Amino acid sequence: MIETETSILGAGWAGLLSAKKEIETNKRITLIDKDTESNLGGLLKSKDIDGFLFDVGGPHLLFSRDENILGRIKDILGENCSKLARNNFVRYDDQYIPYPFENGIYKLETEKRIKIGRELIEKMIFQAQHSEWKPETFMDWITGFFGDLMSNEYLIPYNKKIWKRPLDKMAADWVFSPGRLPFPQLNDVLKSVAGVESIGYKEQAFFYYPKSGGIYSLYKNYLDEITSKGVNILGGKRISKIEKEKSGNFIINGDVKANRIINTIPLPEVLDAIDEKYSDLSSKFDWNSVVIVGVAISQPTPNQTTVYVPDPDIVFHRYTWMSAFIHPKDKNTSNIIAEITVPKNELIDLKEIEKKTINGLIRCGAIKDENKVLFSTSWVNKYGYPIYSLDHNVNREKALSILEEYGIKSVGRWGSWHYWNTDMVMKAVDNTFKTK
Ligand SMILES: Cc1cc2nc3c(=O)[nH]c(=O)nc-3n(C[C@H](O)[C@H](O)[C@H](O)COP(=O)(O)OP(=O)(O)OC[C@H]3O[C@@H](n4cnc5c(N)ncnc54)[C@H](O)[C@@H]3O)c2cc1C
Repeated sequence: MIETETSILGAGWAGLLSAKKEIETNKRITLIDKDTESNLGGLLKSKDIDGFLFDVGGPHLLFSRDENILGRIKDILGENCSKLARNNFVRYDDQYIPYPFENGIYKLETEKRIKIGRELIEKMIFQAQHSEWKPETFMDWITGFFGDLMSNEYLIPYNKKIWKRPLDKMAADWVFSPGRLPFPQLNDVLKSVAGVESIGYKEQAFFYYPKSGGIYSLYKNYLDEITSKGVNILGGKRISKIEKEKSGNFIINGDVKANRIINTIPLPEVLDAIDEKYSDLSSKFDWNSVVIVGVAISQPTPNQTTVYVPDPDIVFHRYTWMSAFIHPKDKNTSNIIAEITVPKNELIDLKEIEKKTINGLIRCGAIKDENKVLFSTSWVNKYGYPIYSLDHNVNREKALSILEEYGIKSVGRWGSWHYWNTDMVMKAVDNTFKTK
């Protein structure tokens, strides 16, 4: 039996951040993860294959509205940090329209940009006159702010591809906060309709990224810091049973004894490990897995970062030029990762997905032809995107109150069940430890 003071379930980003906080008051900490020690990182894994660097959990751009959090993330990277311009596009009408689309419409033919602009302004007028208006569903939110053309030809097909659920069966509360200014901004829309370029969300014009090692180096720096302070890591151990003894101690998988648990593994996984009586509740949590297809190409990198692809006939919803973040040695070669979501527990045929991805990249004009492909590879992330089903708040609250009864705090993208980036996870861990 391994004995520890605090056991942290999950050694992803949330697990490491929690360990860093916990170590301020307690030196005996054990992180447990299903992945082996040589394959840790959660969603922040990167792989170097023949000099091409791929982020295995999807492209990870570091940015935040919260300057303090962003500063702390940059500090973890130290000297190993680049500031890069974000050149995102939407593939629409066989063109690359600068992102965000409502700013990029200046590229479209006159009739189309007038129609999109007029509909956006009509929505703004409606919003200004009906401040009490509140979208019930994600679909209401899209159509309530963006008008028919932009909704039908871009936002609806794109979101159907990423979420793979009826958009009117998804909640709106994660995108809509009452009182927030409706976007886009009138001035930007007017400029775009007039055919003039405008930038859009300024806080997203740049991002930070490790100079070497991919996003994993953010994780690795932190991992090294906490292990050097004595934090213990138990890898290759999928948590499937958590028992609480009368004394208040926890026994994890029958062989780890802890006085205290902090959870960062997905809520349905921890509920199932506590008691099978929670299986009804755990089955209500819905998510998408995400397949990442990496492709190395014998072509140079264009001046692009990520391209969003609403076309329903193309398998991926977006692709990113990883070689724009970290250049391969040979400037005449490049590499891409494309993202494909798969609803929870559906079978995944990686060979078929890779084939369709390469075809899609050729159709988008990213790859000239199949002969330019040096190699392709793929990875499955079982937990990619939490789904904001209509009852997500009720289910989350129930799960968190069950964990609280057991004396377990839960945090992270999966431990809080929120569509959070690294910055929001950091903020949530701060808040969790404030109320210790
Ligand atoms: C496609 C994609 C793109 C993203 N892009 C960005 C971006 O551009 N910028 C950004 O800042 N963030 C981005 N993120 C979000 C970022 O990856 C997350 O916020 C962060 O990594 C979440 O960390 P976590 O520890 O909460 O979860 P995870 O990294 O998922 O860690 C959970 C850990 O729990 C372990 N685990 C799960 N079940 C068990 C079990 N039963 N027993 C033991 N261990 C278990 C897993 O192995 C994993 O190590 C993106 C995410 C995705 C999916």
